[in-house]
Amino acid sequence: MLLKITTDRPGARDLSYLLHKHPDRMQSVKLTAGQAHIFYPVADESACSVCLLLDINPIEYIRSQKRENTDFALAQYVNDRPYVASSYMSVAIARAFSTAMNGTCSQRPDLVDEVMPFEVTIAVMPAPKGGEGLIRRLFEPLGYTVSVLRHPLDKEVQEWGESRYYTVALRGRQRLHELLSHLYILIPALDSHKHYWVSEREVEKLLQKGHSWLPDHPEKEQITRRYLKGLGGLTRSAMNRLTEPEEDTPDEYENSLIKEKRERLHDQRLRIALEAIKDSGARTVADLGCGDGKLLRLLIKEKQFTRILGMDVSPRELQKAAERLHMDEMAPRLKERISLIQGALTYRDKRLAGYDAVALIEVIEHMDTDRLPAFERVVFANAKPRTVVLTTPNGDYNEVFEQLSAGELRHSDHRFEWSREEFSIWVDHVCDTYGYQARIMPVGEEAENVGAPSQMAIFNLTEQ
Ligand code: SAH
Repeated sequence: MLLKITTDRPGARDLSYLLHKHPDRMQSVKLTAGQAHIFYPVADESACSVCLLLDINPIEYIRSQKRENTDFALAQYVNDRPYVASSYMSVAIARAFSTAMNGTCSQRPDLVDEVMPFEVTIAVMPAPKGGEGLIRRLFEPLGYTVSVLRHPLDKEVQEWGESRYYTVALRGRQRLHELLSHLYILIPALDSHKHYWVSEREVEKLLQKGHSWLPDHPEKEQITRRYLKGLGGLTRSAMNRLTEPEEDTPDEYENSLIKEKRERLHDQRLRIALEAIKDSGARTVADLGCGDGKLLRLLIKEKQFTRILGMDVSPRELQKAAERLHMDEMAPRLKERISLIQGALTYRDKRLAGYDAVALIEVIEHMDTDRLPAFERVVFANAKPRTVVLTTPNGDYNEVFEQLSAGELRHSDHRFEWSREEFSIWVDHVCDTYGYQARIMPVGEEAENVGAPSQMAIFNLTEQ
């Protein structure tokens, strides 16, 4: 997918100041499943064009999608995403031009609010049924002249008819930061592909990026709904806030936003786990089921820990952890302290022995219950650290999440979400069997009768 923004305003090269991107250099930004390149095919005083080219790896892209709902087995190999990854275009715009989007230009502040003539080309963009009309209805009220070219499925085989892909050209006089925010919101709003997990954070982005124009847009409802991919509750919340901007989101509404809640909750979990490990006096620590390394990143900042191990069954997660930790560029002294290994927690593993503390943050619920006894032996009998800090969701709390139907779990890979009682029975069993003492505590804000969203046990070895 290629986005090209051109201006022919006299002194057109000023565009590069506004964009904070040097006109004579190609630059790239990394995306989760590929990169975006920024370059200027023309940059002189009479015309200046900047291009943002998405270079998406289709396999990585599809694999990076948590719950890809596809009934087509080869979808990860054969898909249109490298060419039309609209949500990535938004991400790329935000990454590549964040300063411009925020309306900041320290070198030439006078340019920020200048209305300039622009021409924007987007090739190619997918649009749903009635695509051309919709594209017009979204862009024209913002002052653009829209031309749309619909591509046939195959130029050679006319009878196959039209595809759902369009090249779109927009012409209009705009402030650059507003133009970028139009594209940021309207490009993904036109794509019906469900691209990322829509969360309250998306509502924030929508309101923040669209604050100056969305409330007055005649299609604001449709844009909001499409941008938020039809998640009823979120759309309602966003609509309420668009029509009554001064009103805060009600608390009970926030409670239904699982993802957002989970993210904040997760930070809290990691912080509490870190504190517990620090308080145990451990010098060496193993984070088992370390995932993409969020806890490892906190651990490595603490001088107390002289040896840190991250283990996960998933090479992909380990790869992400290595990236998050910048293992490639790590100073040798830091690198000596940390290692990442692949392994499964249900098989005895000598490499896990000799650590003072073990963290197991949101891991056990990913294991089949009939594998738990094996897991218990690996951790509590073989590795046998002095301290184990373990967290798991509290199933009692699920009724607070409005979007979960009864009995539904928070994550598709969870095999169980224990009630507080079930957790406590299991913790007692581990203590009795393997000679540990434990303390259980809630993690996250407690709700009446159902406790906190997550639960933590801190085990301490009693026998030597
Ligand atoms: N602890 C991390 C990740 C939690 S997600 C965090 O708090 O952010 C659960 C992780 O456990 C996943 O990365 C998954 O790959 C890993 N996992 C699941 N079963 C495992 C097993 N049997 N052995 C090792 N890791 C496992």
